[in-house]
Amino acid sequence: MATIFSKIVAGEIPSYKVAEDENNYAFLDINPVAPGHTLVIPKREVDYLFDLTDEEYVDLQLFAKRVATAIKQTMPCQRVGVAVMGLEVPHAHIHLIPINEEKDMNFFKEKATVAPDEMARIAQTIADAMGNNHSELF
Ligand code: AMP
Repeated sequence: MATIFSKIVAGEIPSYKVAEDENNYAFLDINPVAPGHTLVIPKREVDYLFDLTDEEYVDLQLFAKRVATAIKQTMPCQRVGVAVMGLEVPHAHIHLIPINEEKDMNFFKEKATVAPDEMARIAQTIADAMGNNHSELF
């Protein structure tokens, strides 16, 4: 059965899309640790990040670098933090989170409340910074 992230890539489930290339897809996390929290995934459905081929892994990381650069340009933050867990959704994904302090990477604190129109605006802003103006909205 396809993962929820494969359904997002296929357009069967909506997402706040930030960017897409041939092999990778980026969209806002629906339950963000901070506004601008983005997930970067390979389109090929692989559960564990480190089971990607070397080529796929490097391609995904280079895509994530482009997305992180756009997040840094558009969201007020010192840095973009990176995390990989993958225990909830069995489809490899990299969390990119705008942070100002180490504690901003805390996944266990209360999540940010970001209204749908603000999520759409953030996704579009990051997409624009990537020169990739085709955000899909809920
Ligand atoms: P983990 O597998 O522990 O790295 O966490 C999975 C992440 O995916 C969580 O941060 C969820 O909020 C996020 N997530 C789950 N479903 C969706 C969805 N439909 N759209 C966007 N983000 C999602």
